[in-house]
Amino acid sequence: MSDKKTALVISAHSADFVWRAGGAIALHQEKGYEVTVVCLSYGERGESAKLWKQEGMTLERVKAARREEAENAAAALGVNDIRFFDVGDYPLDLGRETQDRMVDVIREVQPKFMMSHSKWDPYNTDHMNTTQFALECRMIAQAWGHNPGQKVLGAPQLYLFEPHQTEQMEWKPSVFLDITDVWDKKWAAIQCMQGQEHLWNFYKNVAENRANHFRRNSGGMAGGRAAKYAEGFQTIFPRTVDELE
Ligand SMILES: [Zn+2]
Repeated sequence: MSDKKTALVISAHSADFVWRAGGAIALHQEKGYEVTVVCLSYGERGESAKLWKQEGMTLERVKAARREEAENAAAALGVNDIRFFDVGDYPLDLGRETQDRMVDVIREVQPKFMMSHSKWDPYNTDHMNTTQFALECRMIAQAWGHNPGQKVLGAPQLYLFEPHQTEQMEWKPSVFLDITDVWDKKWAAIQCMQGQEHLWNFYKNVAENRANHFRRNSGGMAGGRAAKYAEGFQTIFPRTVDELE
């Protein structure tokens, strides 16, 4: 049980984990991690414009369609476990009840690392509120006085996804992850997002650009790795190491 490698991705809306961390998810599943994805909402109000343009659309139909897309994408990525909190979007309801549910999941999963959104996103406050929520839930999961007797959380890193419109979000990458070997899975997952087809090529371009940065930062012309696709992440907490490299 304690040797199990696990990760937890907290996604504000049901498609965010695909664009922003699909490669990391697929890669770690292949490496033997059990990745749990929590979608706080389906993005039913704010990120489903194409569905709402259809005649006679209802909130329940949008949610069902978005859930199916997310489940298909999760299957394409090999996700171990996907959960839908269904707390509504634009805005998310991140009150005490949602917080308690999330802390329970964190303690159950005991992630070796966590992922969520950028800390700042003036275009989409659901995203930045999710990051604040993730930090608060991580803190509560570490508190010995919260539900005494449960296994307390250690200190998993929180990786922040690359946001949309990167330059406006005060997001600065500190890690590039080579996702070339799992790109086919990420591309298949992206194509499950039928409601947001306008984003497919945008996120392919992002992965190609980040691969350029991976090559440069892994040695560039002096021996950098020939990554074709990569994802960037910003880390919140310091690493503890025995040796610098
Ligand atoms: Zn979103």
